[in-house]
Amino acid sequence: MVGRGAPYLDELNPAQREAVQTLDGPVLMLAGAGTGKTKALTSRIAHLLTTGTARPHEILAVTFTNKAAREMKMRVGRLLGEAVEGMPWLGTFHAISVKLLRRHAELVGLKSNFTILDTDDQLRLLKQLVVADDIDEKRWPPRMLAGIIDGWKNKALTPDKVPVAESGAFDHKGIDLYAAYQRRLLDLNACDFGDLLLHVVTIFQTHPDVLEQYQRWFRYILVDEYQDTNVAQYLWLRLLAGGHKNICCVGDDDQSIYGWRGAEVGNILRFEKDFPGAHVVRLEQNYRSTGHILGAAGGVISANKGRLGKTLFTEGDDGEKVRLIGHWDGEEEARWIGEEVEALQRGTRGLSPYSLDHMAILVRASHQMRAFEDRFLTIGLPYRVIGGPRFYERMEIRDAMAYFRLAVSQDDDLAFERIVNTPKRGLGDKAVQTIQRTARSNGVSLVEGARLVVQGKLLGGKGLKELALLVDGLDRWHAQVRAEEDTHVELAEMILDESGYTGFWQNDKTPEAPGRLENLKELVKALENFENLQGFLEHVSLIMDNETEQEGEKVSIMTLHAAKGLEFPCVFLPGWEDGLFPSQRSMDESGMKGLEEERRLAYVGITRAEEICTISFAANRRVYGQWQSSMPSRFIDELPEDHVEVLTPPGLYGGGYGAAGMAASANPRVQEMMGSDLHQKAAEANVYNSPGWKRLQSRSQQRGMAQPSEARNMTIDLDAVSAFTEGDRVFHQKFGYGEVMGIEGEKLLIEFDKAGTKNVIAKFIVNADA
Ligand code: ATP
Ligand code: MG
Repeated sequence: MVGRGAPYLDELNPAQREAVQTLDGPVLMLAGAGTGKTKALTSRIAHLLTTGTARPHEILAVTFTNKAAREMKMRVGRLLGEAVEGMPWLGTFHAISVKLLRRHAELVGLKSNFTILDTDDQLRLLKQLVVADDIDEKRWPPRMLAGIIDGWKNKALTPDKVPVAESGAFDHKGIDLYAAYQRRLLDLNACDFGDLLLHVVTIFQTHPDVLEQYQRWFRYILVDEYQDTNVAQYLWLRLLAGGHKNICCVGDDDQSIYGWRGAEVGNILRFEKDFPGAHVVRLEQNYRSTGHILGAAGGVISANKGRLGKTLFTEGDDGEKVRLIGHWDGEEEARWIGEEVEALQRGTRGLSPYSLDHMAILVRASHQMRAFEDRFLTIGLPYRVIGGPRFYERMEIRDAMAYFRLAVSQDDDLAFERIVNTPKRGLGDKAVQTIQRTARSNGVSLVEGARLVVQGKLLGGKGLKELALLVDGLDRWHAQVRAEEDTHVELAEMILDESGYTGFWQNDKTPEAPGRLENLKELVKALENFENLQGFLEHVSLIMDNETEQEGEKVSIMTLHAAKGLEFPCVFLPGWEDGLFPSQRSMDESGMKGLEEERRLAYVGITRAEEICTISFAANRRVYGQWQSSMPSRFIDELPEDHVEVLTPPGLYGGGYGAAGMAASANPRVQEMMGSDLHQKAAEANVYNSPGWKRLQSRSQQRGMAQPSEARNMTIDLDAVSAFTEGDRVFHQKFGYGEVMGIEGEKLLIEFDKAGTKNVIAKFIVNADA
């Protein structure tokens, strides 16, 4: 036994050391963020190895992400002073399951060379089954079925185990379709992602001999981020640990953020029941963050009910207070953060300089990344996106861009190939081959080729009709680009609408669909910063060119979910607005479950920061070219004042016209309408009347901050809107009664009695007073 002398033990506090040295029997380390759980877990691996208690292949260590697995390997290597190559069973649940399943595939009817389907293949298969069963695929989209089946798999439910009560969807055929899908997968010698775990659990449950073999084999089991395991993962672990029970789980109930994907925080709370006599270690000292950061995080999370409740303390300094800043809009937020990153890099306010590698921007929704990526590219600030593609690399963005490219130039064959059957319009491989052949033999572009195919009726009925529609659309959009009648922003929206691409995602019922729609909106928003489509396309191709990995320091951008377990000296948390964070969905939900998960996410976010944590929000966001006011996040109200410093945003309080004036002056239509009087009127942008802005104002009053110079109100007379004035009582078919708060272009800002504040087109409004 290595005594206290081992260097990795010297780095630990007594509670951690206890967790590391208690090698036999179940151990639970349940402790708050930054208390050294992961550090203790990796030290435990080092300890198992250096004391000769276990050999590398006898240790099963499970992490949540590949990044975490790599990091853990590195950390163990550092502790041992040597590379840790020989740990074959350190990885994610999925990576380890694939290995196990390859060894025993035949026990679930697969061959060991089975393929793992990607989402597209999975959907194609499901669609075939839905269609074969005469189910209306519009009402019951295959994607929805995929979501339901994934949900069952997360709960380790094979078709025979799904409760009948859950069979409502798909005309009560959901379970049968699930069974048929599983049979089909076996025929194809394939499985989907969810099967990887499910099959392994099934093998363990039905073949005790195999289970026993692995129970003996994996003599020590370690699990990080245990609070985020789902039922299937939980069973997988419980079965494997069932023999010797040498299992060490670490986690934090306050950081459970995957409930939406079937994780059960109950798993961690049940540990002591599952493993009687478990050694429970509590860690309370935080080594990551300053006092103010911990205080702020603690204040937010304390609003959650039903927590175990943990205290955290630090022996470090209070440090800088958490900084809170409100901005005019999302673009200004991105501009400010860009400047702030550069200031921190140079060294500011007496702080020593920070490396870009030590700064991270953590967003709630991935569409928020666009504003930062655009801004950073503009000012040449190197960045990396972690845990997902960059904004302009995303599938839906590339699809949409392909349409825009074709509207600008019909010679763009690559773009045509991308969208000819996206969204699906029955133009499969064969149709595409016909188009390609025709184009080649005539020496023309694919769009021209398609036109020839239509003219010569070279395709069968439905395909021909669809292709004719597509060519029509492409011609129309191309003509519109040249005529420059509509603004390019309107045109872009129209293209996405008319091509059926927006509708395709609107009808999609999978959990990713809303995010994709948000990204498309964000794309249209990005267009506003450019004079025309062409200019925008050039900008993006420059971005894509920039992609080649540069060496050197970079600021990281990622979602809060992807940031779990990580730490950075400086953290920016933008977009703290109701509806964005917490998400609209969590706010609409009855009960507190969704909202509490959002709050845990806020806690995860703040606790990633070591020294500087900056929270920001925008008073307005533009959605499809319209201003929408937003309320500062309710989580901001939960930040304890003692730990927060409110910063003065330059554009809002320093006089001047801020982004409103700039945005307005850049818009030729506004210029036309306002003439030389531009600044005077732009200064009166009605957004300053928005509830978000007003709340910002009263907050600044309370805190003795500078005041906005004057209330601003912009009224533009257009025929469509002249029938209304502010204060009018109006009626809208969908949103009911409300009061006109402001008028902007042909849009009215209306505070509806029930539906909240919305921007609506004037022609859909009836004056209720008249
Ligand atoms: P999270 O809940 O966010 O995953 P965690 O509990 O896993 O956090 P770690 O990442 O292991 O925390 O540790 C947080 C930081 O504190 C790391 O930088 C780690 O090196 C440091 N640390 C952990 N334990 C100690 C200790 N005993 N002495 C000094 N530093 C420590
Ligand atoms: Mg950790």
